[in-house]
Amino acid sequence: MNIILLGPPGAGKGTQARILVESRGMIQLSTGEMLREAKSSGSEMGKKVAAIMDAGELVTDEIVIGLIEEKLSGDNAGGFIFDGFPRTLAQADALGELLEKHGATLEAVVEMRVDDDELVSRITARSTCGDCGEGYNDVSKPIPADGRCTNCGGTEFKRRADDNEESLRTRLMEYYKKTSPLIGYYYAKGNLRSVNGLGEIDEVAGEIKVVLDA
Ligand code: AMP
Repeated sequence: MNIILLGPPGAGKGTQARILVESRGMIQLSTGEMLREAKSSGSEMGKKVAAIMDAGELVTDEIVIGLIEEKLSGDNAGGFIFDGFPRTLAQADALGELLEKHGATLEAVVEMRVDDDELVSRITARSTCGDCGEGYNDVSKPIPADGRCTNCGGTEFKRRADDNEESLRTRLMEYYKKTSPLIGYYYAKGNLRSVNGLGEIDEVAGEIKVVLDA
């Protein structure tokens, strides 16, 4: 089963993708993660995208489509979760063509709905474990008092360079201008399933399970 998690920054796509990886053995393809890795490795491509990402703008379709194309030829037994891709209509068209080329289909596009005020407060409060990627939130899930990750015991936590209020405004604007038209696009194709992304992590995971198993 191949699926897309679609939603604005802070909707919880990464968190839910991690749960699906564990519960269903799916493979998470996060273009944001791939780009952050390129950025921290200091590769030519990483240098090219760094300032764009920090500002909260979208990198070119060509770059992200190339990243996804490389991964699609690999192992996909459990199916792919596209997390943060596609983000434009051109990317959505390209994904359709790539899947077709590999004889694969897209089973569902899960739209995660969260109101904008909640997104801003979630993003400015979030951090992750530097070792295992477990997510924390200063308000709803603070880093434990002993400074150790509840999942792996790691002691290093990081915040994303683009998780600040100014960059978030740009990311939201990019979402509404370029990504939100995909909701109509996939509705028309018949793949759209919407869930309420506002609840606790487990509740949202439960809703996603329901729409995927329907
Ligand atoms: P994310 O981790 O999905 O929030 O992505 C972080 C940043 O990476 C975005 O703000 C964009 O600058 C860039 N990015 C990630 N995925 C894409 C994509 N599909 N198209 C264009 N830019 C992307």
